[in-house]
Amino acid sequence: MNLRKHRLLVITLVIMIGISLTGCTGKKTGEDTSYKSGTYTTEAEGYGGVIKVETTFTDGKIDKINILENSETVGIGSVAIEQLPKEIVQYQSLGVDVVSGATRTSNAIIEAVSKAVEKAGGDVQALKDVPVVKEEGNDVIKETEVVVIGGGGAGLAAAVAAADNGAKVILVEKTAALGGNTVRAGGPYNAVDPARQEDVDPADENSMQKARDLTNVEPKNDRHAELMQELKDDIEAYENGTKDYLFDSLALHKLQTYDGGDYVGKLEFIEELVEKSLPTSQWMAENGVQWTDEITTVPGGLWPRAHLPFNAAGYDYIKASEDTARDLGVEILLNSKATELIVEDGNVVGIKGESDGKNMEIRAKVVIIATGGFAANIEMRQKYDPSLTENLPTTNSPSIVGDGITMAEKVGANLIGMEYIQSLPLGNPVDGTLNGWIGGAGVEYYYQVNKEGKRFMAEDGRRDTMTASLLAQPDALSYVISSANNDVDINETGINIWGDDVEKLVEDGVVFRADTIEELAAQIGIDPQVLRETHDTFNSYVAAGKDDDFGRTLFGEQLDEAPFYASPRVPTVHHTMGGIEIDLDNHVLDANGNRIPGLLAAGEVTGGIHGSNRLGGNALVDIHVFGKKAGEEAARMVNE
Ligand code: ADP
Repeated sequence: MNLRKHRLLVITLVIMIGISLTGCTGKKTGEDTSYKSGTYTTEAEGYGGVIKVETTFTDGKIDKINILENSETVGIGSVAIEQLPKEIVQYQSLGVDVVSGATRTSNAIIEAVSKAVEKAGGDVQALKDVPVVKEEGNDVIKETEVVVIGGGGAGLAAAVAAADNGAKVILVEKTAALGGNTVRAGGPYNAVDPARQEDVDPADENSMQKARDLTNVEPKNDRHAELMQELKDDIEAYENGTKDYLFDSLALHKLQTYDGGDYVGKLEFIEELVEKSLPTSQWMAENGVQWTDEITTVPGGLWPRAHLPFNAAGYDYIKASEDTARDLGVEILLNSKATELIVEDGNVVGIKGESDGKNMEIRAKVVIIATGGFAANIEMRQKYDPSLTENLPTTNSPSIVGDGITMAEKVGANLIGMEYIQSLPLGNPVDGTLNGWIGGAGVEYYYQVNKEGKRFMAEDGRRDTMTASLLAQPDALSYVISSANNDVDINETGINIWGDDVEKLVEDGVVFRADTIEELAAQIGIDPQVLRETHDTFNSYVAAGKDDDFGRTLFGEQLDEAPFYASPRVPTVHHTMGGIEIDLDNHVLDANGNRIPGLLAAGEVTGGIHGSNRLGGNALVDIHVFGKKAGEEAARMVNE
């Protein structure tokens, strides 16, 4: 069918529906769209639990939809809670689009309203078939100084920094909500922070030895040799002092990041990331992020230097940046997808795409690409790493499919490190996401067992090696065992760092909880004696500060306080380390190392920073440090 005819048909249908709606006043007049007036309360199972919905039918139409109860994830499911009821009422249709990334929440709302339609005597199928025809409108044609593509952590940091430095900014986000993968993150942010780390217990001898080991490798270059010397000096100064606080240093963070990425990451970027981490966290605080005083070790983070925001993890970052961006006058266009960079005379001068079904063209002096990685693009990730088969789930939002990389490649950008894709051993077995477990606040607070109740790795290791160990276990399934000793993960209202209601997780059988290790084992089908032995052995390693089985060195307290928790976990594709090559001022480079004029990039869309494997807790630093720098550079270019 050609487009014009299709549109005509749709308009005709809408008019017919309009007539039938206005024609019926509570009585059954049309076949498909009449209802008994009244208010009906119905329920459906969402992502976080039951969603209770109140639907009111008046004068033959759906008049009002109120969500009475829900436990959906803030910043993800909450977007559907906010939007879908309005759309169903506006379009008098159950054929509304699900919100990207919040499919289960969206479907639950549609299901609950469908039940109400049935109760009111309406025809659910007919309502599902009512086409949603968005208002005819003008194409979105705009001109600005800086356009940012992507509204995750990096894009928002760039928009805030550019606007704060006087630039006029438009940010386009292809989904209905800001946040991207950032909003799904647990939130740990690595920063060497003497003030906070002063209150942390000293590292044990084995951990210190791992730090010393980093000063005894074959130097890859002169700067590497200097850094090894710096770390030696830092350790010596520490050991000559009181030694009653946690040792850390910029050189240690740099060398752990460099070594953790197999010396593939570019050292000058690692240095920038590490050095700017603390000042950038302070800038984030000025923009509204509230940090706790806790310091933990995020899985794969290798050292206790992760900072956590107060509330729901990644959402805190997005909320703070969004509010600041709006205060600074950044124009944010949601449901607006960039598909192409406009190039004139070799300069990037804007973007083309689609905004809410209309054509979009935004001209700008500088374009910043911040579209995230490509872990949710199965074809693309398999192209670069064929081992990542399609059955592997991902932690990523479905919108993270490498758009920015594709667009940049078309204008000659060089791609770097594309084959380095990180999986985690900590995915939710239902859908691969990061939430739904107890222990996420820090490696110190848990250990992992396989289906047989046996540990199989050092839980404080690198992410790539941990995931490889899990893949070798029966059914690649593991349980995180944690306990009430972990008082960081669950706040006083019973919410964990992912924003999950812990009671609900237990009720729904997502997480298991028991007062003894034996009862816990029985719940998850593990021989209680085996788990008891594993548990006691683990606690003895905590007491000794030494793991004789796998060489783990990071320990907190012994896990001896009930209740105990078991959270099932599977491997899940998480982060793409490769992407667009940039220079230290965020300019996109071509294959010859030359800048592509007018084009900057920041965040997971860029490559070359982390190397072959990324330290846990370094991504949120990367996106904020380099996002901020990109915004500042864009403003500088505008003012040039
Ligand atoms: P980062 O951590 O680098 O900020 P995120 O994954 O948090 O990356 O955010 C990337 C954001 O970019 C997501 O919100 C995603 O929906 C958005 N995005 C991806 N592709 C496009 C596109 N073509 N146009 C507009 N926004 C996009």
